[in-house]
Amino acid sequence: MKLFKKKYIIKKDVCRQCNICPVECISGAIKKQPKELPVIDQARCVACGRCLSQCPFRAIRECLRINF
Ligand code: SF4
Ligand code: SF4
Repeated sequence: MKLFKKKYIIKKDVCRQCNICPVECISGAIKKQPKELPVIDQARCVACGRCLSQCPFRAIRECLRINF
């Protein structure tokens, strides 16, 4: 098992709520929310990195978390 796992987060102050990322996420981990920025369900995320490259505003960041 890997010690670290990639985690993807949406920067609240950068996201424009264009809702492209929920469509582009391959695992359905990003959920649209009415009048708010989308949320990433970390349990469903497979860390493919697609959302990172598809966000036109570079609002999604990659970080590492300890994999318990
Ligand atoms: S694609 Fe980027 S700007 Fe658009 S909703 Fe997702 S995180 Fe926000
Ligand atoms: S890294 Fe891949 S699976 Fe995870 S939220 Fe982004 S697009 Fe979805």
